[in-house]
Amino acid sequence: MRLLLATHNEHKRREFVRLLDGCEVEILSMDVALPPEEGETFAKNALGKARAAAEATGRVSIADDSGIEAAALGGAPGVRSARYAGEHVSDEENLAKLLREAPAGSALEYVCALVYVDPQAGVERVFEGRCAGRLAAEPRGAGGFGYDPAFLPDDRDWGPPTPESPPTLTMAELSDEQKDAISHRGRAVRALLTWFKEG
Ligand code: IMP
Repeated sequence: MRLLLATHNEHKRREFVRLLDGCEVEILSMDVALPPEEGETFAKNALGKARAAAEATGRVSIADDSGIEAAALGGAPGVRSARYAGEHVSDEENLAKLLREAPAGSALEYVCALVYVDPQAGVERVFEGRCAGRLAAEPRGAGGFGYDPAFLPDDRDWGPPTPESPPTLTMAELSDEQKDAISHRGRAVRALLTWFKEG
């Protein structure tokens, strides 16, 4: 499968290239502007980015929109995850705000909407991946990006949490392979690949 990946986010680019191993992945040029993420859903925002890339290039394109939902905050920051603490802020500032506003141990969920657009065939598909977890008391770990240092995943590919094996590692303390196996982005990409193989 040949795909054009519509993202200007280096962290996401690295994860997608790993996850789409076996596909021919080209990265959208920085010259092609992606629309602002103004939609009220992850799917709408991802659709806007994938359509913009497909229209600019005529190529089969994929794009994601992702974020984190905190149960204690009624699902915020959600689609506003990248600008939770304000416009043009760092990942650290967004993370610090989440740690201030939601209690440690409260439920979180990462969400990823991944959109596939084939402009020649007129095909558009949305795939969603989710990853449940809890808020850590303080950030730990140097892997991943964004909210990963404070995200304690419930779900692990080495088995569910038990009293003997509690979910004490943050997403930023996992290896790339461990994150990919359980992450919202990993799950959305595997749904796309399954659909493609079955199609
Ligand atoms: P967007 O999809 O470009 O709107 O950005 C999503 C934002 O959600 C990022 O800036 C991160 O703050 C957060 N986010 C999305 N996926 C992840 C992830 O895998 N780990 C940590 N933070 C994430």
